[in-house]
Amino acid sequence: MTAVALDGPVGAGKSTVAREAAKRLGFIYVDTGALYRAVGLYAARQGVKDEKADDYKDKVTALLSEIKVEIKLENGLQKVFLQGEDVSEEIRLPEISMAASAVSAIPAVREFLLELQRDIARENNVIMDGRDIGTVVLPKAQLKIFITAQPEIRARRRFEELVKKGVETDFEQVLADLNRRDYQDSHRATAPLKMAEDAVLLDTSELDFEGAVNKVVELTKAKM
Ligand code: C5P
Repeated sequence: MTAVALDGPVGAGKSTVAREAAKRLGFIYVDTGALYRAVGLYAARQGVKDEKADDYKDKVTALLSEIKVEIKLENGLQKVFLQGEDVSEEIRLPEISMAASAVSAIPAVREFLLELQRDIARENNVIMDGRDIGTVVLPKAQLKIFITAQPEIRARRRFEELVKKGVETDFEQVLADLNRRDYQDSHRATAPLKMAEDAVLLDTSELDFEGAVNKVVELTKAKM
């Protein structure tokens, strides 16, 4: 099995680039952020929303025994199920992005999702995107890529993506959310977002989509 770990901050192009590269390589694309989003959605649905509360961590941890998160592939596209319900669309809402980032800082949540991620990579050739894939989930991945771009460029892409989906928002808000989420993700104690020592840096600030996909495909082929 070949595993490609693709980590990086919000809006660097991880999911779009990984999805297309996986298609061209015949690999399975796994979006691990969707799992944290599903946990964040569940917590929000149960009324556990106050991320600043002292008991937030304990309350989320207590929910883990009842949460059922699954990933299924439908026509090559990843769908995420929460308690048997397809929540693939709902988890993309901006407030769920923040909830995902909050729950993902809780060690018990990371532990809860770890084996699920590893199991998929055991059985398939994968491109897995996230924050800690190269550092924690698949430390022995044949290829690790850290994909990034300047914050304003990432926020612009994320903003256009949300507008296309009909989500009402403004650019300044998107940029502020992105910076807050990246700060939170990079400064948490457990599995923070950081480039693995043996990762290849791919800066997409000046690289278009096709260029980034080609680079990932080329780097992967060299490892197969
Ligand atoms: O990648 P995406 O933006 O969908 O991820 C949502 C949130 O899930 C991130 O902001 C991050 O806090 C968390 N995450 C994580 N580790 C991963 C993937 C996502 O902590 N491997």
